[in-house]
Amino acid sequence: MVGVAASPTRKNGLPMASLFETSLDDRAMALREALGSRVVFAHEPEYDVVRAPWNPTADQRPFAVATPESADDVVAIVRAATTAGLRIAAQSTGHAAPGLCETDLADVVLVRLGALRGVTVHPETRTATVLGGSHWNDVLDATAPHGLTALHGSAGDVSVVGYSLNGGVSFYARAHGLGINAVRSAQVVTADGTLVRASADENTDLFWAVRGGSGSFGIVVSLEINLLPYADVFAGMLL
Ligand SMILES: Cc1cc2nc3c(=O)[nH]c(=O)nc-3n(C[C@H](O)[C@H](O)[C@H](O)COP(=O)(O)OP(=O)(O)OC[C@H]3O[C@@H](n4cnc5c(N)ncnc54)[C@H](O)[C@@H]3O)c2cc1C
Repeated sequence: MVGVAASPTRKNGLPMASLFETSLDDRAMALREALGSRVVFAHEPEYDVVRAPWNPTADQRPFAVATPESADDVVAIVRAATTAGLRIAAQSTGHAAPGLCETDLADVVLVRLGALRGVTVHPETRTATVLGGSHWNDVLDATAPHGLTALHGSAGDVSVVGYSLNGGVSFYARAHGLGINAVRSAQVVTADGTLVRASADENTDLFWAVRGGSGSFGIVVSLEINLLPYADVFAGMLL
């Protein structure tokens, strides 16, 4: 199972065996019907463009690539894919795509979150709400005018979710800890296509799991993170 697990119970009432007897062409037709142009298949000309990850050494060839632009799109994609008996993998930039390519992707819908970007800064609580595919550069562009920064890593084009939920070691780590500890809450679409909020006091098991497991437990459509009160920072590596 890659990323989000397929739901064992089907809303259409079909037993699992019937779903897996369905040919891939039928599954493709079901996805196209549900998702329209938000999904691209291997025989289509856009496939090579939409499947290309940040890391060009990874030749990822999933069954289909879906590109949501909103949380509702993510819900629709997860429901359509699991109903068709397909597996799902979340990807924001593809920095870690070589690891994903170690898995057979022939029945995987790759959900690429590059169109789901945006940051809202809340200076009064020194926090930010970050959409699921946002990069660290998006956060710094939004926080700097407020004299604030975040526990970002060394690369501005790494995604906030992929970095934060897998640990997140920054120049500030000695003084302020790991990025994962700056995550206050996450909005997650789970394997049954439900959008839920997970935090220290809501869906606490899921919050525990995504902080370390990220894409294994759902697709994160937004994160709420703590910010730091630094207007100017000078940092670097000494080799
Ligand atoms: C040039 C470079 C510099 C780096 N510098 C640092 C650094 O300073 N400190 C540090 O700690 N790390 C650093 N890293 C490592 C980087 O943080 C990880 O590779 C990170 O997982 C990349 O996240 P991504 O989302 O950009 O990549 P992706 O390959 O898109 O995703 C990585 C993982 O996160 C999951 N994921 C991504 N988005 C979502 C989402 N919205 N919902 C659910 N799951 C999601 C994916 O399923 C996958 O398992 C660096 C990596 C590179 C290539």
